[in-house]
Amino acid sequence: MPEEPAMAKKKVADLALMGGVPRFERPLHVGQPNVGDRARLHERLDAILDRRWLTNHGPEVIELERRLTALLGVRHCIAVCNGTVALEIAIRALGLQGEVIVPSFTFVATAHALQWQEITPVFCDVDAETHTLDPVRVEQMISSRTTGILGVHLWGRACDVEGLSEIARRHRLALLFDAAHALGVSRRGRMIGNFGDCEVFSFHATKVFNTFEGGAIATNDDALAQKIRWMQNFGFSNYDQVDHIGVNGKMSEICAAMGLVSLESLDDFVAVNSRNHARYVERLSRLPGLRLLTYDQAERHNHHYVVAEVLPEAGLDRDALVDVLMAERVLARRYFYPGVHRMEPYASLYPNAGLLLPVTEALVERTLVLPTGTGVSFEELDAVCEIIEVALSGAAAIRARRSARPVSLAGRNARPMLAPVRPRRAGGAR
Ligand SMILES: *Cc1c(COP(=O)(O)O)cnc(C)c1O
Repeated sequence: MPEEPAMAKKKVADLALMGGVPRFERPLHVGQPNVGDRARLHERLDAILDRRWLTNHGPEVIELERRLTALLGVRHCIAVCNGTVALEIAIRALGLQGEVIVPSFTFVATAHALQWQEITPVFCDVDAETHTLDPVRVEQMISSRTTGILGVHLWGRACDVEGLSEIARRHRLALLFDAAHALGVSRRGRMIGNFGDCEVFSFHATKVFNTFEGGAIATNDDALAQKIRWMQNFGFSNYDQVDHIGVNGKMSEICAAMGLVSLESLDDFVAVNSRNHARYVERLSRLPGLRLLTYDQAERHNHHYVVAEVLPEAGLDRDALVDVLMAERVLARRYFYPGVHRMEPYASLYPNAGLLLPVTEALVERTLVLPTGTGVSFEELDAVCEIIEVALSGAAAIRARRSARPVSLAGRNARPMLAPVRPRRAGGAR
């Protein structure tokens, strides 16, 4: 790390927020892409160009779908151009309309995929421990207009799929999952991809496994899979024959090639994530007021998200800690602040949604996501821990400093209703 100033943080005065030198010269992003073997990618790119078969279900896409189907142990896995379009297609193929129950504590695309098709997202609260849909609450949100439940395996930790399946069955509702975070994850020994009517993955650059941009829909339902394939390709069922309405949701060959190369390294990516996560837990979970989310040891996980809840006993609130980290150029993120129900158009359409979301409203104020992945070295990770340790040990001094000079980096977009802020996607961060 030659470009880094070797500026260890021993005491609170060393922190950049308190006038010290920033620990990192280059920003440390959350969601830096994992990149597999470059030479293998170049080989595949050459093969694609030699074949002059650039898209339209070419050999790379076919191979990727085959490998993903095997990895997930599922009957069908259809590669799509991105996760959002995959969600839109899945929702359409399932014939959802009226109202669909969905968490607000998620990335905004989950709700957009519904609203885009004029389906009302009915925001449901999550469980405080798991951060995923609370089945008891879900059942309370069902109305005569409800046609489906859209659960999110947030942070790659599976929803209560058994509880949700039981409710969906009893009320004859479609059940699908936004599995954008959950590639390579199991639930009671079975891979995510096999639950509900279908499950939707994202292979965006910031996810554990990426195809630059991409996604997939997994299902064990043959008829649904066929419908999805038609819808994804303009509704073509044969040459010159269109039987359905459809869009262009195809994955290109170069994206599939990236996916095949990423897949070869997926175990390595997960091993790095797992080691990083264990280190964060070891160093940070003994600090007062920091609760690090853990992953169930009995299941397979991708360990792609290092999520901390900053509790009152920490002495600093989450936004203060984000300011400390940002001053050091650690771009920790406040996922999923401020909650989808407080973003437009939802805030205007459903102004009272928050009344039924007490857990979500608390979580958006206290969750913090820290950098991990193959783009972060172990030394950098230890430096992040050191910054947090020093910040919490000097909480009183930091609070005094902040109240004297209330300039907040985190707070800059704290009022989205007054000043809509576009989510930043630069630098691979989201
Ligand atoms: C990333 C993400 C999406 C959207 O996926 P894209 O591939 O970026 O379109 C949807 N839902 C969740 C929970 C996500 O994190």
